[in-house]
This record gives sequence, structure tokens and C-alpha cells, in this order.
Amino acid sequence: MSPSAALGNTEHTSDNQTQNGSVLGRRAMHSEGEQREEGEEEEERSADEGFMGMTPLLQAHHAMERMEEFVHKMWEGRWRVIPHDVLPDWLKDNDYLVHGHRPPMPSFRACFKSIFRIHTETGNIWTHLLGCLFFLCLGIVYMFRPNMSFVAPFQEKIVIGAFFLGAILCLSFSWLFHTVYCHSEGVSRVFSKLDYSGIAFLIMGSFVPWLYYSFYCSPQPCFIYLIVVCVLGLAAITVSQCDFFATPQYRGVRAGVFVGLGLSGVVPTLHFMISEGFLKATTIGQMGWLFLMAVLYITGACLYAARIPERFFPGKCDIWFHSHQLFHILVVAGAFVHFHGVCNLQEFRYMAGAGCAEDGAL
Ligand SMILES: [Zn+2]
Repeated sequence: MSPSAALGNTEHTSDNQTQNGSVLGRRAMHSEGEQREEGEEEEERSADEGFMGMTPLLQAHHAMERMEEFVHKMWEGRWRVIPHDVLPDWLKDNDYLVHGHRPPMPSFRACFKSIFRIHTETGNIWTHLLGCLFFLCLGIVYMFRPNMSFVAPFQEKIVIGAFFLGAILCLSFSWLFHTVYCHSEGVSRVFSKLDYSGIAFLIMGSFVPWLYYSFYCSPQPCFIYLIVVCVLGLAAITVSQCDFFATPQYRGVRAGVFVGLGLSGVVPTLHFMISEGFLKATTIGQMGWLFLMAVLYITGACLYAARIPERFFPGKCDIWFHSHQLFHILVVAGAFVHFHGVCNLQEFRYMAGAGCAEDGAL
């Protein structure tokens, strides 16, 4: 945000974005409970008039001072939520969320303090912050399981560790992105790229233990499928680095890229079903859980892309139950269902022992 925007100086602004920023700066300085006194308003108005008569150097100095004052107020958490239509362009994402947005806050401290305030991102932050802590604890417990519960402890802990790493990276990039999204255009751009890359990491990490156990006795196709999902995942990460990818117009494309990456699992699934038969696939192959996971992820992606339910109730889902929040919850649920399926596959491998039958994949 430019200093003039932070100052709340509505004069000398030519473009809309700066004007919006000015309104925000002015509005954001008001705290929720304590309205600014009229005398203070008067003082600011006369300060603005005085500002006009200054030399450029003095104006710059004055601007810096007021920028500092503005940032200081942000640190103290003195801001209030604002409507969508006064957001600067880079913060405008979903116009069905009419009110309750954080203003631009060029201070990481203010952004992190906003985790404990109620606004459009509160649900997005907490769903993945709690999800991240949950998978972190689960991962630690799993990694410390006694080695005698595995047939190949080292390998198995590495492949299940890949799933936990993917899940933890995805969820932590996500809650961090939603926390600092309102910091500034540059910061939001960098973190949105991390957020999208995190989804690719989760998908790639989920494939690793699933392919390992499903093709335990056929290492060659297992290896080929792993290479393919890694190449596709890296391609998704590469496309996420383009600036256009994060824009609201590409919402559907984004959902499509990640659903497509997840659906690349259809090929190994069919391979498994053909080689092992439908019955084995749905019992020991855990296809039911995988199917449920796919339903959860795809439902989440559809809600996200179509912005359901807020498109039917604009302004009614500003804080709770908007599409992005539901999508976050479905991602955590999908990852947990996948983990459950992988645990069942692991258990089967343990019961069956390390040996392989003549021509079985599993
Ligand atoms: Zn998100």
C-alpha cells in the first residue's frame, strides 16, 4: 500500500486502487468500540489542508510520519472490518462475501493478531491451522510407533512420512496464506503461490504410501506411477507460479488443475482392479475409502469453483460457511479418510507378511 493510501489522503490520487486504499486507511483507523472524536476528525482535516501547502520534501516527511502512525495503530489491533466494494483490487476475490473483510494491513504482527478476530478469513485460517496441528500430532505418534508393527519399518515410515509431510506442508502454507493475505499485494502473491503448491504436495504425498502398499509386489508399475504423479505435481506447481493463476477469473482452472492431478490416480486404480479383481480391490485394496476421499475432494473443489453457498445468499455467509471454508474442511476430512485407508493397507501388509504371491500386485 502506498504511503498516501495509508495516510487516508484522498487528494492527489488518480487511480481507483489508491482511492480505495485511502478510504480503507481512513476507515481502518477507527477501532470497533471507540469511535474517533470529532475534534480529532477536525484536526485531520486541517492537517490535510496544511499538507497541501507543503513543499514536496516536507510532504514526504509528513507522509512517512503518518504512515508510521498508521502502522503503529495496526500493531495495536485498532482496525475494523470493511465491505468488499472498498477493498483494493488485489484483495478483491469473492464479491459474494459482501462484508467482514480485513483492510490491507502492512504489518505481519497485525496480520497474525487478526487470527483471533472475526472476519472473512477467520474460518479459513482456523480450519487449516487446527488441521495442521492434528496431522502434526498424528504424524509424530505414527513415526514413533514400534518398528515391530511393520514388515519393513524404515521404508514404510518413509512412505507414510511422505503423506504426513504433504499434508502438513499443504495445511501450513494454507493457514499462513490466509493469515498474511491482507498484508500487501507482494506478500499475498508469494503466499498464494505457496498455498497452491501445498495442494500439489498433499496430492503427491498421498499417492506415495497408497501406491507403495497397493503395488507392494509389483515394484515396476509402482515406480512408474510415482514418477508420473511427481512430474504432474511439479507441472501443477510450475503453473501455480504464474501470476494469472491466482486471479478470480481462473478459479475454475485452479480447481480443474488440482482435481485433474488427483484424478490421475484413476489409472493405477483401474490397473489394480483389473489385476486383482473388483472384490479384492474393494476389500483389501481399500477402494471404498479412496472413493470417499475422491468424493470429499471433488465436492470441495466444486463448491470452491462455483462459490456455493454464498452465490445463493450473498452477504449471508460472509463470516461462516462460505465455500472456501467448506472446501478447507473437506480437504482435512479427505486427507484423514486417505490416511485411514492407508492405515488399513498397512495393516493388511503386516498381516500378510513381507512375502508376495505368484502374480498378485498386493
Ligand atoms: Zn484456502
